[in-house]
Amino acid sequence: EVTIRDLSKSFTLNGRRLNVLRGIDLAVGGGSSLAIVGPSGCGKTTLLRVLAGLEEPDAGEVLVDGSPVHGIGHQRAVIFQEPRLLPWLTVLDNVAFGLEVRGTPRRDAREKALRYIRLVGLAGFETAFPRQLSGGMAQRVGIARALTVQPEILLLDEPLGALDAMTKLTMQEELARIWQEESVTMVLVTHDLEEAIFLADRVLVLSKDSAIPPRLIDIDLPRPRDRSAPAFVELRK
Ligand code: ATP
Repeated sequence: EVTIRDLSKSFTLNGRRLNVLRGIDLAVGGGSSLAIVGPSGCGKTTLLRVLAGLEEPDAGEVLVDGSPVHGIGHQRAVIFQEPRLLPWLTVLDNVAFGLEVRGTPRRDAREKALRYIRLVGLAGFETAFPRQLSGGMAQRVGIARALTVQPEILLLDEPLGALDAMTKLTMQEELARIWQEESVTMVLVTHDLEEAIFLADRVLVLSKDSAIPPRLIDIDLPRPRDRSAPAFVELRK
C-alpha cells in the first residue's frame, strides 16, 4: 500500500513559484482502483510521479507499507501515454525486457512474458516488431510489459489518450478485465470522466486552483460497469 500524507509539491518556472499539489491525503492498495482527473496542468502527472517515486514531494510523506521510501520500487510499474517500446526488439522481447533487467533468467522471463501477451490478447504477435503494430496493440504490449513484473501497483498516465474512440472503448473493457483478473492496484490518470467512472472505485478530482482542496469521490456502482445504466449516466453529468 502506498500512503500519501499532507503532500505538497511546487515547481519554480521562469523564476515564479507554482504550487501544483497541496494537502493531498491518499492511500492506494489492496487491489483498489483510483482515477485522477482534473483540468490540464492541475498536477495529475506530478501526483502519479510522486506515487511512482520519480518525484520528491516538498512537504508531506510518502509511505510504502508504512515505511518511507525513495526511488522507484519493484512494486510499482508505470505506463505512459506512449508505450515507449524498444523498436529493435520483438513483442516477446519487449515484454520480457522488464524482467530481464531485473535479473530474471531469459528463459523464465520469456515464459512469463508469453502469459501476459496472451492476457492482453496479443497471442500470435510474439515475433512482430513494434513498427508492425497499431497504436492499440502497442499500448497492449506496454501493459503486458508492466504486468509481467507483477507490480503491486500499476500506475497509468493517460494510457488510452492517444487511441481512437473505438479502440479506446475496447481497451477500457480490457483494462477492467485485467484489473479484476490480476487483482492489481491501479492508479489511472485520465482526462476522460467516463473512463474514470468505468474503471475506478474512487475518483480523485484535482483543481488548478490550489486553494480548492482535492475531492475524493466513491464510485459505488456494481461491476462490471454498465455504461448505459441510469446511475452511470447520472454520475457522468
Ligand atoms: P495534463 O493534463 O496537461 O497532462 P497534468 O494535470 O498532468 O496536466 P502536470 O504535468 O502534473 O499536470 O503539471 C502540473 C504543473 O506543474 C504544470 O503547470 C507544469 O508546467 C508544472 N510542472 C510539471 N513538471 C515540472 C517541472 N519539472 N518543472 C517545472 N514545472 C513543472
